Amino acid sequence: FSGLPALAQRTCGTPLAITQAQKAYPKRFAIYRRNLRLGPPSEALKKYQRGTAIAVIPVVVHIVLKDPTVVTDAQVQSQIAVLNTDYSADNADSVKIPQVWKSLFGDMRIQFCLAERTPDGNPSDGIDRVTTAVSSFSEDNAAVLGKLAASGGAVAWDPTRYMNIWVCNIADNVLGIGTPPGLYPADEDGVVVLYTAFGTVGTLLPDYNLGRTLTHETGHYFNLLHPWGDGDGTCSPGDDVDDTPPESAPVYDCPSFPYLKDPCSPASPGVMFMNFMGYANDDCMDLFTVGQVARAQAALLGPHASLLTSDGCQPVILANLDAALGSISSPAGKICTGGVSPVVTLR
Ligand code: ZN
Ligand code: CA
Repeated sequence: FSGLPALAQRTCGTPLAITQAQKAYPKRFAIYRRNLRLGPPSEALKKYQRGTAIAVIPVVVHIVLKDPTVVTDAQVQSQIAVLNTDYSADNADSVKIPQVWKSLFGDMRIQFCLAERTPDGNPSDGIDRVTTAVSSFSEDNAAVLGKLAASGGAVAWDPTRYMNIWVCNIADNVLGIGTPPGLYPADEDGVVVLYTAFGTVGTLLPDYNLGRTLTHETGHYFNLLHPWGDGDGTCSPGDDVDDTPPESAPVYDCPSFPYLKDPCSPASPGVMFMNFMGYANDDCMDLFTVGQVARAQAALLGPHASLLTSDGCQPVILANLDAALGSISSPAGKICTGGVSPVVTLR
């Protein structure tokens, strides 16, 4: 699409969101840091990992734009489809995984469904369009202003029952932001994606038109870090995942394999630049590792466990000839004399 400025490089707002949370929410940050190094897996997690169950996570997509119809239902559906193939190790481009790492290709066994009901039990298609006067939201504090009604954002649906996705215009050339579990207040928990890096159809940036920004940011939502760990350029502890090779800094665009310029992994096969948690272009990333899957599943069965029993994707059973008084528009307040001609909303 010729009208869109090209983004030179992938930029993820999650490291800044983590840094800012340290100042804004020191207590929560301390817990986050403590949980960063995973302890031994719980019995429940071990049982889950031995099994074949597939988790189904209800999602709501809040489209917060001056014209929210710009992001079509088809675009939303194309994005959910990518998420589902990437989180079930079903992505066709996994054939490109280098031979040396094929055995590390991990299957998250997580699926995502657009919500079938709102938090208060009304039928829904899981897409929430909010018209805003704000042309772009700052990435500050995980783009908090896009999540609050008072600042022109869209209010979260109960984050214990839904994974919230905000699709908006983000300032500062940021493609997306994911909040690690428990680090941000509940109603700010979720994922933010730039509307031109969302899905595979519609008006999209050329290098980010395969829906991988949400794959990446959802990884943060499930407690994954960038392979280089966003630290001080040292090789350890990196992302606290053993099977992603040590890396000191992001690798952009799409280099040829093997990439040996990182001092942390100078010998072949080098760094795993095609990992979903890296900064390569959409058509250049194709896997989570077995170690990342274990870490994400620990977050799923830990802080995000309530999503596993959510009824968010169960359709509402509608009764025939059933209506409820949704609201009374008129009269307002008390009427003590005469008659009224009420104006009400039936649902
Ligand atoms: Zn990231
Ligand atoms: Ca690693």
